[in-house]
Amino acid sequence: MKFKRILLKVSGEALIGDKNYGIDPLQLEQYSNEIKEIKRKGVEIAIVIGGGNIFRGIDAEKSGIERVQGDYMGMLATLINCMALQSQLEKIGCDTRLMSGVNIDQVCEPFIRRRAIRHLEKGRIVIFGAGLGKPYFTTDSTASLRAIEIEANVVLKGTRVDGIYTSDPEKDKNAKKFTEISFEDVYKNNLSIMDMTAFTLCKENKLPIIVFDMNKPKNLISIIDGKKIGTLVY
Ligand code: UDP
Repeated sequence: MKFKRILLKVSGEALIGDKNYGIDPLQLEQYSNEIKEIKRKGVEIAIVIGGGNIFRGIDAEKSGIERVQGDYMGMLATLINCMALQSQLEKIGCDTRLMSGVNIDQVCEPFIRRRAIRHLEKGRIVIFGAGLGKPYFTTDSTASLRAIEIEANVVLKGTRVDGIYTSDPEKDKNAKKFTEISFEDVYKNNLSIMDMTAFTLCKENKLPIIVFDMNKPKNLISIIDGKKIGTLVY
């Protein structure tokens, strides 16, 4: 597969690396170097980062914080990750723009679809922060919707697992990995790769997803080179 424009989704948890919480600078460096490398290959890159390494709205309720408030806290957590990645990418010479689903004029631009596309055409790496700016959504849904809006060819979902398995490989030794699977078979086999909203958006808009281990060095580059890494959902 050859891609002109990609949407890379990185979970917040993947950023933890070897730490227990927050952002591992080594992880950030690895991601940034690989993103720079694929940029050099001529791919247009948009990025959505989760916030799970810092805060998730669903966990807020446990500590007595109202859900909607918690979700906004989660959205702000994603922005912290986005700012860290933006900073690291610029440090190594990449041109970037951070666009946010929640207006924070001092640090980023608001998300405006046409402007996002223009940035991409000009060769800038566009990072989408603060999710969709709406509670009860996730950054997976953000990745799917933004990918459709900017007409990306694929969603590359970088996680800590190297693809989709028949069952949870951390619990079941006999779990088998799919190299490819159709959207229908994901439904039929009740496999979970994203939340339903995110998944359905991709399915209905025929937007392929590749689930892969983002923490394995060179994986991202290999995907852009056309190698079969992780699991392709089509
Ligand atoms: N969030 C939200 N609306 C959005 C995107 C994110 O409310 O459009 C909140 C939600 O509370 C979520 C948190 O931000 O739990 C962090 O995002 P997510 O859980 O998707 O991060 P990841 O699991 O990818 O690290």
